Amino acid sequence: MDRTVVINLAYLLAGVLFIFGLKGLTHPRTAVRGNLTGALGMLVAVVATLVHQEVVSLGLVIAGMVVGAAVGAVLAQRIHMTAMPQLVALFNGFGGGASVLVAGAELLRSGTTSAQTTALAAAADAASGPGATSAMGLDQLIAVVASGLIGAVTFWGSMVAFGKLQELRWLKKPIHYPGQHPANAVLGALVLALGVAMISWPEHAWLYWAVVLVASVLGVTLVLPIGGADMPVVIALLNSYSGLAAAATGFVLENNVLIISGSLVGASGVILTQLMCKAMNRSLVHVLFGTLGPGEEGATADEVYQGRIKSTSAEEVAMLLETARRVVIVPGYGMAVAQAQHAVSELAKVLESRGTEVEFGIHPVAGRMPGHMNVLLAEADVPYEKLKDLDEINPTFEQTDVVIVIGANDVVNPVARTDPNSPIAGMPILEVDKAKTVVVIKRSLSPGFAGIPNPLFAADNTLMFFEDGKKAITELISALKEL
Ligand code: NDP
Repeated sequence: MDRTVVINLAYLLAGVLFIFGLKGLTHPRTAVRGNLTGALGMLVAVVATLVHQEVVSLGLVIAGMVVGAAVGAVLAQRIHMTAMPQLVALFNGFGGGASVLVAGAELLRSGTTSAQTTALAAAADAASGPGATSAMGLDQLIAVVASGLIGAVTFWGSMVAFGKLQELRWLKKPIHYPGQHPANAVLGALVLALGVAMISWPEHAWLYWAVVLVASVLGVTLVLPIGGADMPVVIALLNSYSGLAAAATGFVLENNVLIISGSLVGASGVILTQLMCKAMNRSLVHVLFGTLGPGEEGATADEVYQGRIKSTSAEEVAMLLETARRVVIVPGYGMAVAQAQHAVSELAKVLESRGTEVEFGIHPVAGRMPGHMNVLLAEADVPYEKLKDLDEINPTFEQTDVVIVIGANDVVNPVARTDPNSPIAGMPILEVDKAKTVVVIKRSLSPGFAGIPNPLFAADNTLMFFEDGKKAITELISALKEL
């Protein structure tokens, strides 16, 4: 059989394996198998690409793989679980950056920009009209511009998102400045104009780099003003962009597997973005063009908390739990920081062994990446059926005796319902304040990601258990066992 046919069949097989892999990832029970299926697809794709390679020497490819694998292995070993969201942001960014470089290199390699192809280009021009005037066809030139544009926005947008997730002081808060929207509109128009110019005069390579430069600035300015409740949407969107950039690069290289895998990432990212928008009660346009300004300053922490905070201890909470018939555990980012998921799972088992009904309330944006809490609790063997989303758990809080909030803050902040100027305004929250007693486990009164005080901590039915999440739950289990 023809080598090209074999390679394309291998690419098709890889695409099918990717699709089954994604299908597997839709349920925790099949997720591990899904992951392995996707990895197998990637192996097939890599082997086929190595066989396919025509220009780059195998030595260079292997050198790249060795360096990449070494960096990946060190990162995987060293990175703390709590820094995974930042790492995912970097991966998205690197995907976009790679697309920019590959498309640029292909543009130069194709000879489209060299003087010697001008004659060739002119001949093609005569035959097919302007736009097809180069060693690269019109479709490839459009793909080059799309790769450069989307890839650069993705790279720089992801770098800013990384800084926000890393909670770098000067990036953490949404950054607004006068004339922000008109400035972004001008940058958008400029990058499109440069893109059209590049397609029309592909012999000028600098036009490609000008597209990349302006798109880079746009990537930064688009993400700078986003913060608080809108961040999860942006992360999902950047993930989708990285896929779209890869798909565009697939068209540049005329590589089918890159087109397929990029489209899958792009499409699944768009679906995730939509789910996040729905979960956060946001419109995509609102997030992208930041119609919400910094707003008036809300109440300060002192105004909210002074004289109203009631601290508690493990023994006191254990006594409350002893008589509780129904307990809901609400985890947040702090559970990930404390790595308390195994202790939380054990607490649930101890309570259940005493006849208490236990469920988990999971907010779609709790933590720092979509599905963060689900992954941690699955790792700790908490049965999936016990994880209830907002719609399911909210109506049950009034019949709940004790809610244990562990390391969650923004996702249980009632200000989302009451203050239209707050950065989390309109976001549906877990309405834990409706339960008989709320126990909040965290180390201090510091705010969550959105940086605002939480009146829940000062509510009459709330007890604050100031402790590291894992230590608090371990103490709680011991106290329960001693009763
Ligand atoms: P928050 O960021 O609102 O709050 C986390 C809380 O955990 C903090 O108040 C902190 O308080 C506490 N904490 C930290 N370490 C520990 C520890 N070791 N033990 C106990 N508590 C600890 O988290 P939520 O999950 O409630 O909300 C997620 C926020 O992140 C939302 O604003 C969301 O929009 C945003 N976001 C979500 C993303 C996603 O995809 N899920 C992506 C990007 C942003 P203290 O320091 O006092 O202990």
